[in-house]
Amino acid sequence: MPPTPNQLPTELPGRSPVRGTHKLTMLARETIQPGTELTISYVNTALPRNVRRQALRDGYGFWCECVRCERERREEEKAAKAEAAKLEADKVARVAEAAKEAEKTKEKETKEAKGDKSEKQADAITAKMEELGVVDDML
Ligand SMILES: [Zn+2]
Repeated sequence: MPPTPNQLPTELPGRSPVRGTHKLTMLARETIQPGTELTISYVNTALPRNVRRQALRDGYGFWCECVRCERERREEEKAAKAEAAKLEADKVARVAEAAKEAEKTKEKETKEAKGDKSEKQADAITAKMEELGVVDDML
């Protein structure tokens, strides 16, 4: 019985592709449907996309646009857009917060100004009451 994909070793010693022969032995880790394109990497696939692409350009003379590279490029662009949107949302939130603070400060100042006015009116009333001699009766 053949091994299942999970039973296969990650490395197959002595089973890597060799240049100069016309034979290539590969062991599939999963079922391959007829017509599926089989590919090998010329560079370490653990490297970041730009490093892989540069190595391929330098070593093999082409700029890789394989499915993985293009998928990673789209993901990076999507992440960059999401980050930009987040930064913009943060900025809008900070502006809204600043506007709210400014409104609070304005309300407080208005309240204080009204308070001053009320205090002055109260003082004027008290003065008038004193003048009329009714303050002592109330206190
Ligand atoms: Zn690629």
